[in-house]
Amino acid sequence: MPVSGTPATPGNVFMVVAPSGAGKSSLVRELLHRDPAIRLSISCTTRPPRPGEQDGREYRFVSVAEFDRMREDNALLEWAEVHGNFYGTPVDGIAQSTRDGHDVLLEIDWQGARQVRQRFPGAIGIFILPPSIDELESRLKARGQDSDSVIARRLLAAGGEIAHAPECEYVIINQEFSVALQELTQIVNAARLRFSSQAVRHAQLFSQLGISAPH
Ligand code: 5GP
Repeated sequence: MPVSGTPATPGNVFMVVAPSGAGKSSLVRELLHRDPAIRLSISCTTRPPRPGEQDGREYRFVSVAEFDRMREDNALLEWAEVHGNFYGTPVDGIAQSTRDGHDVLLEIDWQGARQVRQRFPGAIGIFILPPSIDELESRLKARGQDSDSVIARRLLAAGGEIAHAPECEYVIINQEFSVALQELTQIVNAARLRFSSQAVRHAQLFSQLGISAPH
């Protein structure tokens, strides 16, 4: 049984959760650029690609039939219906990566985060909040990637997503991108310094120093 706040695996599972338009994807993209050791889990979705999105990079774009098949084959660690489309995290690789000491990052909604916690009780939830609802709306519009009806739907859903912020261990208010990025980096670094992660990364030193796992 893991001690509270202690990962059950040497690698960390980070779950970044946010309403659409809070700037989550840009923050994650920049974090991964600066810290290539973090493995991004590429989700499957039945939503159509936005302009500029590439299959296998932002998402694996699949049909509803393919998605259903993955679900039936237990190929998804978690899945949820979000804004009328299905999204899911492929299970392959995540358990092995974290056992081997690699950090894995999932960009998922609150429903998915709940399911991941059942499998990875030490998963770390990071909620990204917009500085205000007005700002969220202008960011969604400025993105220019979604139709008015899609934007309206996402704005309506934002309140529902935000209501689940208390389920996350950490909250970042994304007012200033550079500050939010720094905060995200600090959370990642702090997680890596947890006893159980350090004990695996520095097994030789720990044994030399006679340090054993907490009982
Ligand atoms: P978008 O369509 O804007 O890329 O994503 C819409 C929502 O779906 C976001 O809240 C995002 O976090 C969530 N999402 C993306 N991938 C997954 C996934 O694999 N599982 C779950 N549960 N949600 C996801």
